[in-house]
Amino acid sequence: MEKLSKVSKITFDKTGTLTYGTPTVTAVKSVSDYSEDEIYDFAAAAEQMSEHPLGKAIVKCYGKKPKECSDFKMIPGEGVTALVDGKGIRAGNLKLLKETCLSKTLAENAGKYINQGNTVIYIAVENTLAGFLVLSDTLREESKQMIQSLKEAGVEPVLLTGDHQKTADSIAEALNIQKVYANCRPEDKLRCIDAYQKNGNSVCMIGDGINDAPALKKANIGIGMGGIGSDIAVEAADIALVDDEIKELPHLPALSKRMMTTIKLNLTFSMGLNFLAIILAITGILGPVIGTLVHNAGSVVVILNSALLLKWQQK
Ligand code: ADP
Ligand code: MG
Repeated sequence: MEKLSKVSKITFDKTGTLTYGTPTVTAVKSVSDYSEDEIYDFAAAAEQMSEHPLGKAIVKCYGKKPKECSDFKMIPGEGVTALVDGKGIRAGNLKLLKETCLSKTLAENAGKYINQGNTVIYIAVENTLAGFLVLSDTLREESKQMIQSLKEAGVEPVLLTGDHQKTADSIAEALNIQKVYANCRPEDKLRCIDAYQKNGNSVCMIGDGINDAPALKKANIGIGMGGIGSDIAVEAADIALVDDEIKELPHLPALSKRMMTTIKLNLTFSMGLNFLAIILAITGILGPVIGTLVHNAGSVVVILNSALLLKWQQK
């Protein structure tokens, strides 16, 4: 709580924290001889064991039972790889597909969707790009108000996301967040938080994914999304938001500031009272019985004052 009262920057992960992380597949495009259906089949099969909100969303939107897959591997902040029908499938962002050559048509095709703020998941079959899936995620209704309240409380919001710069910019613009770091791998999120801390800031990080876990540990305070979040993220966090209620976030630093005031007030009061009682006892004004009563009355006042925090609501 003491650490929370000093927080000057709150860094947010995008997918799963500011957006619902339950996007829908709005288009499947092919840039190869594979049909769009085949690309969707490969994507759903490769993602069926995925813990990531994007992977889960693809399987959910696919609607059918995906084909079998083996050799599943998850690369945090990049995507997944797996064997489907004996073929090596990669599903993820351009970092994951760095070895595969990108065609100009693909870049133009996908660029249109990315510029609209969608997330594009590229699908490669045997190291050749086959096509991509377009996913659109919806902002949580409460995100905008929450960011506004944090700013009013003097905390600067920062967006750290593994997503594409354009997608990140469009979300940041909708939420009025000025500082955006896109294309972040887990270690980039870590580095960014470290840089803020070296500049004397206290940083709180909020995230849901495996890729957020190192950053959640590094930040002065880590807050994990208890519902949608991966187990590792929740483990790494200091606080878990049980119902993913991000609208409660501005309440936290405000409550901790109020709590520190209460603690300081209680300390000053009890020290003052004891000091006064000792003087009165030395001078013989206060007898042992009254002295004991005064001492205990002081404790009761401290407890009552602390209990007021239970009823405290931010104005
Ligand atoms: P954020 O930091 O905003 O929560 P992530 O780091 O979780 O975003 O993901 C970053 C990017 O990595 C995603 O936008 C996506 O392109 C890619 N990615 C991560 N996991 C997967 C997955 N399971 N399937 C496909 N793409 C993925
Ligand atoms: Mg996330």
